[in-house]
Amino acid sequence: MACSDGTRAVPGGSTHAVPGEDTRAASGDDSRAVLGDGTRAVRVGLPAPVKHEPTLPGPVFAAHFHLPGDPTGGYAYGRDENPTWTHLERAIGELEAPDAGSNAGSDVETLVFASGMAAISAVLFSQLRAGDAVVLPDDGYQVLPLVREQLTAYGIEVRTAPTGDDAQLDVLDGAKLLWIETPSNPGLDVCDVRRLAEAAHARGVLVAVDNTLATPLGQRPLELGADFAVASGTKMLTGHGDILLGYVACRDAELTTSVRRWRKIVGAIPGPMEAWLAHRSLATLQLRADRQNANALVLAQALRERAEVAGLRYPGLPDDPSHKVAARQMRRFGCVLSFTLSTRERAERFLESLRLVDDATSFGGVRSTAERRGRWGGDAVPEGFIRFSAGAEDPDDLVADVLRALDESAEAAD
Ligand SMILES: *Cc1c(COP(=O)(O)O)cnc(C)c1O
Repeated sequence: MACSDGTRAVPGGSTHAVPGEDTRAASGDDSRAVLGDGTRAVRVGLPAPVKHEPTLPGPVFAAHFHLPGDPTGGYAYGRDENPTWTHLERAIGELEAPDAGSNAGSDVETLVFASGMAAISAVLFSQLRAGDAVVLPDDGYQVLPLVREQLTAYGIEVRTAPTGDDAQLDVLDGAKLLWIETPSNPGLDVCDVRRLAEAAHARGVLVAVDNTLATPLGQRPLELGADFAVASGTKMLTGHGDILLGYVACRDAELTTSVRRWRKIVGAIPGPMEAWLAHRSLATLQLRADRQNANALVLAQALRERAEVAGLRYPGLPDDPSHKVAARQMRRFGCVLSFTLSTRERAERFLESLRLVDDATSFGGVRSTAERRGRWGGDAVPEGFIRFSAGAEDPDDLVADVLRALDESAEAAD
């Protein structure tokens, strides 16, 4: 297993994340041959070949399915189940838990949702009851404070602690659920998932990990001990900035049933077209992730030489505070880096000067994006804080554009 024995993600300081060598075969291959991430990515979730049928069946547009007589399971109504989801759910499950099929008794199931927030809410609101306590990160995704308000309104005690230094350990006692986000967005701190999961389980606390930033090619929370791997597929998983999607992968059948029930109640389901586009996009996940992660690293290396860049963070940099823990549990370090320029004005001039990088929120797409995070309020970041998502451009072009924009934003100051 890639992560079970602390396998190194990447040789320290190398320019490329190295795809895992020890991953299992994708669907339809019972030999369980050891295949690389790229090979798995192009095949995940595909049905067995049928003569005259396409490799990846097209989206099934159906609100209801023919259902004479008593319902006997299977596709009945479009809010509960859809064959296009089924293929995508298998695919994501094979990425999050490639070994599950070979491990008797293991029961990983994946459920897709309309968005990352739909998936996150499904876990939180299906598991927590009035009187329960939940531990959230205090430096996580910017909608978590809203979630916190809602949970509190329902009589759930919400505790928070920072991601860095595994600080959530200190507030676990008596909680029902621990919510981890690593690397954290946008601060890029990392916590030790295995250590936190062991401590949580020793106290009877369930563990969910938001795996959005890393993607399952970057880390596999279920193998690190989490009960739930949850993510927004809107970001690098699908990678083109054109669909919203979320998923929950879970190892326990009973927990999965309760999340599935929540999806049925709330109806936060993806359209068949989005689900199909997502599955199509998975085929290039390894290509995109390796190119974008490599771009993030060369960009970080270029930025660290610049005096006007402060607080540079990228977990793939060997001297980053997150690197040591990240290297133990991650197989790729992601495409997001962050840094701070002196003032809000300087940061805005920098963003305006970029030609190959869109000033836009979100991250993980094939086109680089950057934004001044403080414009939203909410995140505890300096005014000049930039969150940068490296795309799949040629690295030389991307680095040149960023360094030129830094130069131009400085000149304008004089
Ligand atoms: C974007 C994001 C979400 C929410 O996902 P949506 O698809 O926008 O609902 C959750 N967690 C993290 C870490 C994110 O970056």
